[in-house]
Amino acid sequence: MTHVLAIDIGGTKLAAALVDEGGSVLRSATRPTPREDVMASLATLIKEVSEGGPEPSAAGIGCAGPLDLAAGTVSPVNMPSWRGFPLRDQVRELTGLPTVLAGDAQCMALGEHWLGAGRGSAALLGIVVSTGIGGGLVIGGRPLLGPTGNAGHVGHMTVDPYGERCECGGRGCVERYSSGPNMVRWALENGWTPAEAAPPRDRACGGTGVAPARADARLLAQDAAAGNVVAVAAFARGATALAGMIAATAAATEVSTVVIGGGVSGAGPVLFEPLARALDDIGGLPFVRAVRVEQTTLGVQAGLAGAAKLAWDYSRSAT
Ligand SMILES: [Zn+2]
Repeated sequence: MTHVLAIDIGGTKLAAALVDEGGSVLRSATRPTPREDVMASLATLIKEVSEGGPEPSAAGIGCAGPLDLAAGTVSPVNMPSWRGFPLRDQVRELTGLPTVLAGDAQCMALGEHWLGAGRGSAALLGIVVSTGIGGGLVIGGRPLLGPTGNAGHVGHMTVDPYGERCECGGRGCVERYSSGPNMVRWALENGWTPAEAAPPRDRACGGTGVAPARADARLLAQDAAAGNVVAVAAFARGATALAGMIAATAAATEVSTVVIGGGVSGAGPVLFEPLARALDDIGGLPFVRAVRVEQTTLGVQAGLAGAAKLAWDYSRSAT
C-alpha cells in the first residue's frame, strides 16, 4: 500500500507522518519548533519518518498562517524567522515529491471531515479555539481555501461592529471575545482570581515542579466547572460570540456541522453548554438552527490527518 507524507507546522511543534489511503499512520514523529532554522529541524524530522520506509507519493503540509497559496509561501505570526518563506518549494526540493500546502486550521477541518467528528458532513466548519481562533471550511468534500489560501479565517469575523479593536486591525472580531487569553483577560478585569493551581501534569516536559499561579484558560475552565461566577460568565461571553460567528457562517455557507478543537475546546461543557444555548437564541432560519456542533475527536492529530488528506487528493488529481 502506498503512503503520503503529512507535515503539520505550528508555533510550538513540528509533526510529520507517513499515512496510508485509509488514514492509518505507519510512522510519525514530532519535535519542538526551534526559534531559528526551522527548515533544518523539519528536514531532520522528515528524514526520521521517511528513512527506510515506503516511498510516499506526495507531501501535504498544514502550516500556521497567514500564507499565500499562489506563491507557496508562509508567514506564521508566531514564527518570526519565516516571513514570506517559500515552504512549499523548499519541501518539494527536499523530498522530490509533489507537494501541496494549506493552512493549519484548514487542515484541522479537513482531518475532522475525513476521519473525525465531521465525517461525511456535506458542509463543515472546523474551528480551532486556542491562543487565537482559526478555522477552515470543507464544502462538498473539498477544502475551501480561497484565492490566496486564507478562506476560513473565522476568528476575524466581526461579531460586534461597535466592539473592541482586534490585534488584526479590525473591530469586534470573535477572537477578541472567545480566544483563551481574551476570556482570561475579561475574567481578570471582572474580578476573577484563579483558585489554587493544580500541580503541572507534565513535569517531564519542562514543568518546574512548582504550581504556577499564572492565570490561563485551563485554570479558568477549572474554576468555571467549579461554579466560579466570573469564570462561568467569561465562558458564556466567549461562547455567545462564537455562536454569533457560527450562525453567520452557517447563513453564508450552509455548513451543517461545526467541529471545535484547540486547547480551549478541552474545557468541555463549560464551553459547549452555553454555546448551544446561545446558538438556540441567535439562530433564526431553520438551516442555521439545524447546525450540529461537535467537539473534536482527533484532537492534536486533526491537522496531520488533514495534511495527509490534502496530499492524497493532490496525488490523485496529478495522475
Ligand atoms: Zn481580528
